Amino acid sequence: ARQFTRPLHDLANQYNQLLSAVAGAERVYQILDEDKEEIDELKAERIEHLNGNVEFQNVSFSYGREENTIKNISFSVKTGQTVALVGPTGAGKSTIINLLMRLYEPHEGAIYIDGINIQKITRESLRSFYGFVLQEVFLFEDTIRENIRFGQLDASDEEVEAAAKKANAHSFIMKLPNGYDTKLTEDGAGISQGQKQLISIARAILRNPTILILDEATSNIDTVTEIQIQEALQCLMKNRTTFVIAHRLNTIQNADQILVIHDGEIIERGNHESLLKKNGIYSNMYKQKEGTNVV
Ligand code: ADP
Repeated sequence: ARQFTRPLHDLANQYNQLLSAVAGAERVYQILDEDKEEIDELKAERIEHLNGNVEFQNVSFSYGREENTIKNISFSVKTGQTVALVGPTGAGKSTIINLLMRLYEPHEGAIYIDGINIQKITRESLRSFYGFVLQEVFLFEDTIRENIRFGQLDASDEEVEAAAKKANAHSFIMKLPNGYDTKLTEDGAGISQGQKQLISIARAILRNPTILILDEATSNIDTVTEIQIQEALQCLMKNRTTFVIAHRLNTIQNADQILVIHDGEIIERGNHESLLKKNGIYSNMYKQKEGTNVV
């Protein structure tokens, strides 16, 4: 498909990062049939500004001819709010994000941002509003500085460092032999899993997205770094719409809305307190696995 032959420069929209991490590149190869995409884009327009009010209206979707993967899902989230998607593996959490990204189109219903059906927004401009912090941090062989700048290619060195400071990454970077000029390898040898996350958060802060997609790392992070990550995420999430693919219940307690997804349906919704009072599925999950991974 076209997307994969554009210059590396274009990767700055972080599309590829999402492809590999959330959607799986193969799936996208299948679906982003070039002709279909071009025809589709004729009806769509470039959008310069969005506030980030997201609404799913009766959205159903299936990857093939089988039963719907997403079944009549409706919810809305206002600018600045956080919505957490909770549920077992295979429930449909990533698919909801894939639809929001227009990697796939709903078969029924529609998704709106600021009241605009996202099918009317070109994929390229739509995706410019998203930022990601994913479990698998995408690094490339270059300096830490350039790896952070990947969030916003025209950012100055000062802006890169300011973002790193907000992301709690500055102090560990300064301890590396060459500071911001330290070269990284693709697999990030020499820095920890948690430090990779901090780089990814710095990158997202620099990018300043309207809508943030968060798929947090779950393991191999020491307590000190974990606290730094949580703090950096709080800073990043402030004033933007955030979708969290939740793995740990203790990190979503502050979400404005928790959607409990099961078999493609929202089976419970509410904030942490109200869901606990309900004494239903969420509350059971919470009691059983307090503070630990849920998926
Ligand atoms: P979650 O993110 O909650 O783990 P997913 O959204 O990844 O769930 O998956 C929901 C369901 O859709 C699963 O049954 C999964 O196997 C299926 N699925 C995901 N991607 C594809 C695809 N490209 N083709 C067919 N089925 C898929």
